[in-house]
Amino acid sequence: MAGYGLTQTNLHISKNSPLSTEDTMHQNLISDNDLDIHTLIAKNRFGTFFGVPQTLFDEVWQNLTASDGNSVVYISMEIGADPDVFHPIKDRLMDLERTDSMDSKLKQFTKKLFNGPEKIPCYGGGLGVLAGDTLKSFADCRIPVVAVSLLYRHGYFSQIVDSKLGQISQSVDWHPEETPGLYLLHDPKNPKAPLQVHIPFFNEHDQETIASAHVWMKMEVNHSLDFFVPELLLDFSLKDNPAPIQDAAGKLYNSDSSFIKATQRRMLGTGVLPVLQALDITSNTLHLNEQHGVVVALQLIAEELQATLKHSDFSHASDKQILAAAEKVSHKLVYTIHTPVKAGHDRFDKSVYAGMSHKSCRHILELLAQDKDTPHSYNFTTFAMRVNRTTNSVSRLHRDVTHKQFPEAVDKITAITNGVHHLTWISEARAEAFDAFPQLKNWRDDPGVFQKVKKLRNNNRFRTYLSRAWAKDSNTLYKYINTMLLRHRNQMTSTWIDPPNYYSNLIDPDNQLDPSAFTIGFARRFSTYKRADLIFDNIDTLCDILIKNKWPVNFLFSGKAHPADEPGKSVIKLILDYQEELHTKSQGLANLIFIPNYDMQIAKMMVAGVHIWLNNPKRPLEASGTSGMKAALNGVPNFSIMDGWWAEGYHDGATGWKFGHEGPVDVADLSESPESLLYTEDSASFYKTLPTVLQDFYADSSHSRFIDKAVMNLCLNIPIFNTHRMAAEYLQKYELKLPSSLQKKMDKFAALYNSNQ
Ligand SMILES: *Cc1c(COP(=O)(O)O)cnc(C)c1O
Repeated sequence: MAGYGLTQTNLHISKNSPLSTEDTMHQNLISDNDLDIHTLIAKNRFGTFFGVPQTLFDEVWQNLTASDGNSVVYISMEIGADPDVFHPIKDRLMDLERTDSMDSKLKQFTKKLFNGPEKIPCYGGGLGVLAGDTLKSFADCRIPVVAVSLLYRHGYFSQIVDSKLGQISQSVDWHPEETPGLYLLHDPKNPKAPLQVHIPFFNEHDQETIASAHVWMKMEVNHSLDFFVPELLLDFSLKDNPAPIQDAAGKLYNSDSSFIKATQRRMLGTGVLPVLQALDITSNTLHLNEQHGVVVALQLIAEELQATLKHSDFSHASDKQILAAAEKVSHKLVYTIHTPVKAGHDRFDKSVYAGMSHKSCRHILELLAQDKDTPHSYNFTTFAMRVNRTTNSVSRLHRDVTHKQFPEAVDKITAITNGVHHLTWISEARAEAFDAFPQLKNWRDDPGVFQKVKKLRNNNRFRTYLSRAWAKDSNTLYKYINTMLLRHRNQMTSTWIDPPNYYSNLIDPDNQLDPSAFTIGFARRFSTYKRADLIFDNIDTLCDILIKNKWPVNFLFSGKAHPADEPGKSVIKLILDYQEELHTKSQGLANLIFIPNYDMQIAKMMVAGVHIWLNNPKRPLEASGTSGMKAALNGVPNFSIMDGWWAEGYHDGATGWKFGHEGPVDVADLSESPESLLYTEDSASFYKTLPTVLQDFYADSSHSRFIDKAVMNLCLNIPIFNTHRMAAEYLQKYELKLPSSLQKKMDKFAALYNSNQ
C-alpha cells in the first residue's frame, strides 16, 4: 500500500503511534533539548509534512494561494535536487546527534528518517540540476515560488559501463514511497485516498480519454530552515491510466517514439493548471524552464477564448481573436531557453501532436507553433518564443546566438547567465576553511561576501587552509575511485561485466592512484558537440608532453549518453578504448579513468577533488555549462573553450586557462556535423597550452601562481556564478511585490552582476 505523507510510510514510526496525533508526538519524540522536533511538523488538508514548523508552512501556503497571485510557478521537465548532496534538515539533526543532546527516541527517529534512499533520480543532466539549484536559492531568499514537474518511477536511467560494450542502460529501481521527504498528497475529501488530478487526452478522432495523476510533494527547505519552495511532482504511472500514458510516464526523456515523447510533454504542460487548481494556487506568473511544458499556454489561450466567446467551443475563433488571446496569455509567461542545439527543441509531426490536443486547439497551434523548416511539424520552441513577455538565454554568448536564431524576437531576449547553488556545491572541507575567516562571515547567506577574498589573497594562512581543504577533497575523491577500481575487478568474477577501467587490471592495495598527481576532471552528458574525446585526438603529442617533463596526470571522466544517442554512446566507448594506449604510451604517467553512473554526488566529489576542470564543447553550442561553475566555487580553475559561462568567468586568465577557436559567432557555427566539429584545430590548441598549466602546478617556483588562480576564482567567480544572483535577475522579470527589506536584499544580489551587459 502506498504511504500517504508521513503518517504511514516515510517515518516508519510504529503503527500505533502515528505522528499525526500530536499527543503521541509529545510522548514519543519531544525531548527537552534545544531542537523541539515537534515544531518541524506541519499539516494541512493534503497531508502531514516533516521539516518546517506549522506557522512557516501556513505562511508559504498563504502566499501561494492568496488572491493577488503574487507568486511564481516554475515549470520544468526535470528537477535535480538529490538529498545526498544538500539536506539542511538532516544536517541540523546530525549536529544534534554529534553534540549528543538528542535523546534515544529522537535518535531512533532520525535514523529511520535518514536510512531511506537519498536519491530522487528524476533528472538527466544540467537542466534538471539547474532547476534544483534555482529552487533552493528561491527558498534561501524566501521568494514565493512553487515548482511543477513529473515523477518518473523508472527515473532517467542507471548506467553500467563495460569496457567491451560501452554504456549499458538499466531502468532505475527506486521507490518514492520509501524516499524520505517525498509526500503523496491526500484527497481532502477522502483523506484515505491520494489526491488525483485529471487531464484530458484526445485521439485522432477527437475522442477524449482522461489520464489521472497522483501528486507528490517535496519541500525544498532552505539552510536556515525558515522557508521552503514546494515541488509538485505529477505521477502518471497509475494502473488505471491508458497504456500509452503509463508508457510515457515511466522514464524521463523516453524517446522510443515521437508519440511517447509528445505525450510526456503534454503531461507536464497540461498538468500544470489542474494541479494548481486542485491546490488553490493562484500564481500570476509562470516560468518555463525550457519549452517542454509550453502546452500550458495552449490551455491558457483556450480559456481566454472561451471567456471572450462566452462559449466552450472556440473552434471558430478568428485568427485575430486567437492572437489577441495569445497576447494576453503572454503577459503571464517568462521563458528560459537553454540551448542552441537542435535536439533540445521539441518538434512534432502535426499528425502526432494534433491528435493529442482537442481539435479546436489545432488552429491555435497552426498560428503560433508553425515550424519554418518543416511545415508539417509543430515547433514548441517557436511556440514558447511567441507566447511570453520575456525570454532569457543562459549566458551572454548564448544571447547573441539566440538573437541570430530568432531575429524576430530579439527585443525580448536578454541574458541571465546561469549560476549554481553555492550551499550545495561548496564542499564541506572548503566550507570549514571559509568559516575560519571572520572576513567571510555570512558567506552562506550572501555569496557576494567572497568579493572580500581580494584582501585575503596574500594571506598565507588563507592559502594554506584552502590548499589543505583541497587536498582533503582530493583524498576523498581518490578513495572513492580506488575503491571503485578494486570493486570492479572483484565483480568481474561474479558478473559478466568487464571492468570499465583498464586500471582495474593494474590496481592492487600497493598500486593505487595517487591523489597528488595532477588531476583533470571532465563530467557531463555525453553528446557529440561536447567532444569528450577531444583531448585524446592526438595521444602521441599528449604523451610527448608528459614524458618530456615526467608529469603524471590523471584524467577523470564521467557522464551518461542518452540511451537513444548512438553517437554519444560511441564517444563513451572511445574514452574506454583510449585508456590502455594512453597508459602505455605515456609510460604509466597518464591514466584515464571513467566513473560510471554520473550523478550529483559524483559531481560534487569531482568538482572539489580535481585540480582543474575541463570543458571543450564546440563553440558556441554550450549555451552555459554549469559544472565548471561548481569547480570555480571550490576554487578549482577551469581549462576550457571560450564558450558559455567561461567566456564570462575567465577574467583575462585570472581564474584559469582557455584554448580553442574564438572569434565572432555565426549561424554557420551551429552545425553539429562531424566534419565541422574542429577536432584538429581545438585539440592542437589544448596541447599548446597544457604545458603552461602543468608547469604552474608542478614547479615549486610557480605553484603559487596556480594557487593565485584558485583564490581568484573565489573572489571573482563565486559572487557571479551563483543562483542567488541568478534568482535576483529572474526576479526583475517576475514583477513580484516583495517586502521592501527583501527587495533590497535581492537588489543587492542583482547588483553583483549584470548578465545582459
Ligand atoms: C552540474 C551537472 C551537470 C551539468 O554539467 P554541464 O557542465 O553543464 O554540462 C550534469 N549532470 C550532473 C549530475 C551535474 O551535477
